[in-house]
Order: sequence, then C-alpha cells, then structure tokens
Amino acid sequence: MKKILISACLLGQPVRYDGRSCPFDCSLINLWQAKGLLVPVCPEMGGGLPVPRPPAEITPGGGPGVWAGTARVRTRQADVTEFFIKGAQVALDKAVACGIKTAFLKQKSPSCGSCRIYDGSFSRSLVDGMGVTTALLRQNGILVFGEDQIDELPFKQI
Ligand code: SF4
Repeated sequence: MKKILISACLLGQPVRYDGRSCPFDCSLINLWQAKGLLVPVCPEMGGGLPVPRPPAEITPGGGPGVWAGTARVRTRQADVTEFFIKGAQVALDKAVACGIKTAFLKQKSPSCGSCRIYDGSFSRSLVDGMGVTTALLRQNGILVFGEDQIDELPFKQI
C-alpha cells in the first residue's frame, strides 16, 4: 500500500492559524496511521508562517474563490501569497519524495481545501474552489480528497 499525504491538523497537530487542530477521528485513518502510511504536512507552516497566525483567504483571481495565477492570498492586513506558494511546493516535494499519489486534506482551507474554500470576504462565506496546495498537487497528478470525501478515496489505487 502506498503512503498518503494528510493535513497535519487532521492528525491532531496544533498547526492551525488559531493554534488548534481539527482531529479527524476515523477508524480507517487510525489504521493507516498505525501502519505508518500517513505523511503529515502543514503547507502554511512549511511555507514559513507561524502558529498562531492571522486567518487568510483567497481573493478572487480566476473567479470567486478559485485559485489561479492572478488570485492572491491575503489576511485582513497583508498579502501572504508567497508563503502559500512556497508551502504548496514543500508539500509537493514531500509527496514526490515519498512516491505519494493520493492526498487527504482539510476542506475549506486556502491551502488544503479541495472542493470548497472561503470566498475572500472574511464573512465565513464558502464558494466552490480549491486551495493553493491542492491546486499544485492536482497539477502534478496527485489525487486530492477532503475529509468529507473519505468514501470517495480510490482504495484500489492506494
Ligand atoms: Fe491544516 Fe492545511 Fe491549514 Fe496546515 S495549512 S492548518 S494542514 S488545513
């Protein structure tokens, strides 16, 4: 069985912007972890951002909430796009080094979101879209699923 990239916060690591985690309690994930198949990554920390840090959202570029070359990632105070791009590359490098073809990442995050992210207005509004890391992983042929898509994981390919 191949290894799987996973958002570190889903494994209980306190790496979120607010210093908390969001552990995903699931027997399958627990089994994979016990077998040493999970490779945790936090792209935002990998990109050089601290914990805690101000929340960030993707501002419209290629469309509302859609990560594209003209989009930016911002906190309420600053443009942090470069940290997110660097973190995405760190995650991709880790995946490639481990021969990973599948990632299981935290939904809604401007880095890890795979289907839905916040719309850039800091009003808790969600739009269809993906985070910066998810976009880079997908561009490089890695399948990315959110924690709400565990039933869709392609077990035969893992
Ligand atoms: Fe979790 Fe990804 Fe955000 Fe890090 S960047 S806290 S792994 S959702």
